[in-house]
Amino acid sequence: MIKAKKSLGQNFLIDKNILEKIINTANIENKIVLEIGPGTGNLTSYILKKKPKQLFVIEKDNKLAANLENIFNNKITIINHDVLKIDETTLFKEKVTVFGNLPYNISTEILCKWINNLKNNIWFECLVLMFQKEVAERIIADFNTSNYGRLSIICNWRLNIKKICDIKPGSFSPKPKIDSSLLYFYPKTNFVRINNPNNLEKITRVFFNQRRKMLKKPFNQLFNGNQKVIDKLNIDLQLRPHNLSFDTYYKLVREYEKLRS
Ligand code: SAM
Repeated sequence: MIKAKKSLGQNFLIDKNILEKIINTANIENKIVLEIGPGTGNLTSYILKKKPKQLFVIEKDNKLAANLENIFNNKITIINHDVLKIDETTLFKEKVTVFGNLPYNISTEILCKWINNLKNNIWFECLVLMFQKEVAERIIADFNTSNYGRLSIICNWRLNIKKICDIKPGSFSPKPKIDSSLLYFYPKTNFVRINNPNNLEKITRVFFNQRRKMLKKPFNQLFNGNQKVIDKLNIDLQLRPHNLSFDTYYKLVREYEKLRS
């Protein structure tokens, strides 16, 4: 009998309809697939039914990893490691489809790590990921809304994002206290070029540090009141951080990088 560890965000999916929905979100026949946090292997079994070319799983919990070895034998490649410490960009010979009912405590850290490490050639074809519903709402929020912020801006930089469905606590064992949402991400073909994604992290951090205050203070802190940037991007410094569009933030990062090159 496997006892779920709260510290590793272990809420196992037991709802067959949701498991079906997850694997039907992407076509994986004969493709390379990566599953993050396979746990007891519920989603893993459903993925295998779709006949992927190869299935890699990354599971931190040693006991669960050993259990998966017993269940699936050589049908999957188990990486018994912390996903936050793995460099996925060099792991695969072709683009992969990623599935993950992510541990909620590190879900945004995992996603931001992937976005931060993106090279010109993206290592995944798409991501099918589960988040706490309120985190998903921040990821997909549009500008001029209260959920819009750093997470929306960082995630939307190079990825198109679609919400697939919400999921109730009863679909998991043990039941979490919160609702969840399933999101689908795939790379954008057109996006604003940024040399170093850390600058996107930095600029959004400074702007959203005081999200109710006017843009003037963070703008001056980063750009020293540079009028050329204000005119070029047509920024009204009386507005608040959530009133600036996605593209304005990406272009601000470009200007920031140009001024420092
Ligand atoms: N995919 C399974 C399912 O849907 O039933 C389990 C999902 S459970 C929400 C999260 C899984 O991620 C757990 O198996 C947990 O042990 C694993 N996990 C937690 N932190 C991790 C980390 N840093 N790296 C890799 N796996 C991790």
